[in-house]
Amino acid sequence: MDKIIAFSFDDGTVQDERLVALLKKYGFKATFNLSSALFGTEYSFEMNGHHVVHTRLPLEKALALYEGFEVAAHTRTHNCLKLLEPKDIIEEVVPDYMRLSELFGRPVRGLAYAWGGKNYDRLAVEILKNFTTVRYARSAADGNSLAFPENFLAWNPSAHILSDKLSGLIDEFERAEKGLLFIWGHSFELDFDDGWNRAEAVLKRLKNIDAENLTCMETCERLSR
Ligand SMILES: [Zn+2]
Repeated sequence: MDKIIAFSFDDGTVQDERLVALLKKYGFKATFNLSSALFGTEYSFEMNGHHVVHTRLPLEKALALYEGFEVAAHTRTHNCLKLLEPKDIIEEVVPDYMRLSELFGRPVRGLAYAWGGKNYDRLAVEILKNFTTVRYARSAADGNSLAFPENFLAWNPSAHILSDKLSGLIDEFERAEKGLLFIWGHSFELDFDDGWNRAEAVLKRLKNIDAENLTCMETCERLSR
């Protein structure tokens, strides 16, 4: 019976150094979704009264940090595919995974759609399917479900790592014989509202559940059999 835990984190910001250390502490693997044209870009913004540091890791640090983790694409310049023309969708996706594959020295076959919520549409899915080698693409819309995905190119995560519904889903997952608990987020979001402690509590709890931890690509391969 497949009972799988998978993690997917976006943007490759400097806080990933702390997140990777936390994942390693509990022995979890995960997938990190990166935009190949944006390494080292410095950015910050205000969100819900918090000053958010959104500086992306420089390439050299990223290459070392994600050793042993899956790297997936996140569009070349962090663009929302459902707002683009077909040729621009391809331009954001194909050179991105090709460049990441070359830089990291391993095949990059996954994608996390950039921007929030249901950040893809049918056209984007069709283009990925017919004109790219992308095997799976994750949205930012919580499915609040442990069900296996029907379409890996329109793959909704179970819940955000700071979602107030995650604890109930973990209860359900604990009791279930099979299922996929697919958690996503951004490490920069953990910098406030006690986020780091909350994330660690989630990992600590999951460590005690008898389930397999796979990367997104491994999950896709396993469930596509
Ligand atoms: Zn993003």
